[in-house]
Amino acid sequence: MGPFDVVIIGCGSAGLGAAGTLRASGKSIMVLEAADHIGGRTYCDNTSFPAPFDFGGQWFHMATRPSLRGGLGSNNPLYDIAKSRGLAVPSDLNRRVFMPTSPPQNVLASALPVTLGLVAGAALWAGGKAALFSHDPAHDVSLAAASAGLKGQPRYDQCWGALVTEHGAELDRVSCLDVFNLAMTANLPVITPSWDNHLIPSGMGNFIATFAEGVPITLNAPVKSIGWGGKDGVAVETSAGIVRARAAIVTVSVGVLSSGTLAFDPALPDRHRRALAGLEMGHTAKIGLLFDRDVFIGLDANTIVLPEDNRRSQPLVQTKAWGHNMAIVIIGGDEVADMEEKGHLVDYAKEQIAEMFGNEAKNAITKTVASSWSTNPWVRGGYSSALPGGVPGRMVFAEEPLADRVFFAGEATSKLQHSSIHGAYLSGQDAAERVLKVLSA
Ligand SMILES: Cc1cc2nc3c(=O)[nH]c(=O)nc-3n(C[C@H](O)[C@H](O)[C@H](O)COP(=O)(O)OP(=O)(O)OC[C@H]3O[C@@H](n4cnc5c(N)ncnc54)[C@H](O)[C@@H]3O)c2cc1C
Repeated sequence: MGPFDVVIIGCGSAGLGAAGTLRASGKSIMVLEAADHIGGRTYCDNTSFPAPFDFGGQWFHMATRPSLRGGLGSNNPLYDIAKSRGLAVPSDLNRRVFMPTSPPQNVLASALPVTLGLVAGAALWAGGKAALFSHDPAHDVSLAAASAGLKGQPRYDQCWGALVTEHGAELDRVSCLDVFNLAMTANLPVITPSWDNHLIPSGMGNFIATFAEGVPITLNAPVKSIGWGGKDGVAVETSAGIVRARAAIVTVSVGVLSSGTLAFDPALPDRHRRALAGLEMGHTAKIGLLFDRDVFIGLDANTIVLPEDNRRSQPLVQTKAWGHNMAIVIIGGDEVADMEEKGHLVDYAKEQIAEMFGNEAKNAITKTVASSWSTNPWVRGGYSSALPGGVPGRMVFAEEPLADRVFFAGEATSKLQHSSIHGAYLSGQDAAERVLKVLSA
């Protein structure tokens, strides 16, 4: 196939961001996608439940102003586009409560936010120090190290668990600088009701899929290797043959890059390999549950419930999701990979429902669906997380293409908006701009 101006590997948010920019400049492109569907980690299930169920991202994060990129929009251009199309994108101001307590105890009124605030403060302090020293890895520490002095706080373990669910990685492996960078455009984390996190009841996956309209995409086309050592251009090997192009944009996750299942010929330079060693995939899962009746004791639609007990496994349970007799259980951390591998995610989610709402609620479950990001060979985890000292690796991938022919994009290559859908989208656009510069030189 080809030759094309640019071949894009991966049809998630980053791949579609890159495709949009290149098509607007009149370049010939081909997007190669390993899976049998588009969207990557924003894939949406429209058939199992009365409302769309996003297996991956469902919030627009960081819809804050002013945008660091200038202009009138927010820091989340996807949110701006959805809003301009007239889609319902309400702020997530829904309550966060602990269960089982009677009546449900508001999270904001308990000790968790205080502890969370202290830990976040410690992270921001440590991250700020690392940033001050020009991202010197020696000044970056883990979130666990930064907050070690707070261990005696009443809900420290609970707070740990809530943060692990949010970041997907255990806190002794999460870089404070990485968290600090997110704070440049994020006001509040998902754990709190907030104006800068927005929901899209019509399905994030359905929304992202609209960016694929008119884009030439080949599905079921896993790329095996990318040859970039020839006289010019790239030769991309898929099961259907070789695709040639002047340049490639690689948007696969760091999980896929680390796995070695996508070969580079010549091999990735040492600098990129070292960068990869400082980045890892956290693990995050979502389990959708349908009930035969309303078991949510009068809670409003989309209330987020957390377990009351002080333990390090803290799922966020979106109850009465979109007003239906549905719940969405979100859990992150190392245990997710293990549970997914053993097929235990659904049982885990049911147990949480039983703990929070009683066995009757558990027995009212009629249908379940679980994500499988960690065992998915084309993703291999939830989203990227930098190890202490690992943040500069994000920029190596974002800014250092291979021989001006192989460019990298994807959420992991975003310094300030990593681990997000819009961060991925923007990284795709940025990579496309870099390619355009090289092609026009
Ligand atoms: C459970 C979960 C919840 C999340 N919640 C949120 C949220 O609420 N808000 C938010 O902003 N973000 C959220 N995220 C993160 C967000 O979904 C991701 O950061 C973003 O979608 C990643 O986009 P991407 O294009 O970088 O990567 P991907 O979406 O992973 O796209 C890469 C594509 O490359 C393909 N691929 C891999 N290997 C090959 C190969 N060899 N050949 C060809 N194709 C290949 C993959 O199949 C995939 O489609 C969540 C993620 C998860 C997993």
